[in-house]
Amino acid sequence: MQGSGYVGRFAPSPTGRLHMGSLIAALASWCDARHRGGQWLVRMEDLDPPREVPGAADDILSTLEGFGLTWDGSVRYQSKRQEAYADALEMLIAEGRAFGCACTRKMLADHAVYPGTCKQGIPGGQDARSYRFIMPEQTIHWQDEIQGPQSAGQEMLDDFVVRRADGFWAYQLAVVVDDVDQGVNAVVRGADLMDSTPGQMALWDVLGAGREAGHWGHLPLLVNAAGQKWSKQTLAEPLEVDRAPYLLMEALQLLGQLPAGGAGEIQASAGVSSILSWAVDHWRMDRVPAGPLYWQGGQS
Ligand SMILES: [Zn+2]
Repeated sequence: MQGSGYVGRFAPSPTGRLHMGSLIAALASWCDARHRGGQWLVRMEDLDPPREVPGAADDILSTLEGFGLTWDGSVRYQSKRQEAYADALEMLIAEGRAFGCACTRKMLADHAVYPGTCKQGIPGGQDARSYRFIMPEQTIHWQDEIQGPQSAGQEMLDDFVVRRADGFWAYQLAVVVDDVDQGVNAVVRGADLMDSTPGQMALWDVLGAGREAGHWGHLPLLVNAAGQKWSKQTLAEPLEVDRAPYLLMEALQLLGQLPAGGAGEIQASAGVSSILSWAVDHWRMDRVPAGPLYWQGGQS
C-alpha cells in the first residue's frame, strides 16, 4: 500500500474539542489517503496561543485514535517551527515577494483587499507592524476535486499578511511552509478554507521548490437545521468516542459513501475498524456532494 507518493494531512487548531464538522474533514482526508495507498499526517496548528484551550491538542489526538483515524509518523506542532517560518519570511523578502507594512486595522477598514500603501516602502518615519506577501497579478485557476473548476481573479487577490502585527505567524505562511517541508501533495479540507487556496498556491510557487500541492478537494460544510456552520461558535457538541461507530456511519452517509437507502453492506454494529476498512475500500471522492450537508445532531 505504501509508495503511491500521496501525502495528505489533517491540521486542526487546538481551540476546542473535535465535533461532527471536524470528523467529516478528518474522515474524508483519511479515507482518500488510505484508498490511494498514501500517507496521512496530523499537524497541530497551535500558532495562536490566545485562542488555544489547554489540553485541547491531547484531547483531539485521543479522539482521532478513538475513531480509528491513525496517522503516519509523529504529530507536528507548528509552535515548534518558529525558525522555519522566520527563514521563509527572510527568503520572501530577499526575493522581493514580501514587504513590511505599517498600516493599522483601522486604516484598512474600508478596503476589501490591501490597497498597496506600503508596497513601495513604508511611508516616512513609521515601522513595519506586519509583513505581507505580494500576490502575482494574474488569475489563479485550479481544479477542485469536489467543488469543480475554480478561479480567483485580480479582485480577490490580496497581498495577505504572513507575519501578524501581534508577532504571531499567519496561518497562510505556516501552512505552506509545513506542507512543502512534509511533502504534502493532497489537501482535502473544509470549503470554509477555499478562499485561502489562491494565496497558498501562489506561496507554493515561491516556497515549493518546483513542486505543487497537486490534489485540492474542498469538502461541503456541515450545517445545522438553521443553516449555521457546525462549529465551536454554534456550540457544536463534541465527538464522544463511545459513539464512534454510529458517528462514523453518519459521516459516511453525509459524505455520500453509503449505498442509497443506507441498507446492507455495512452497519454501525460492525465496529470502528470494520467500518473504516469498508470505507477505505469503497471510497469515492466523486460521490462527495459539493453543497452544504444538513445534520440535525447526534441523537440516536
Ligand atoms: Zn501597509
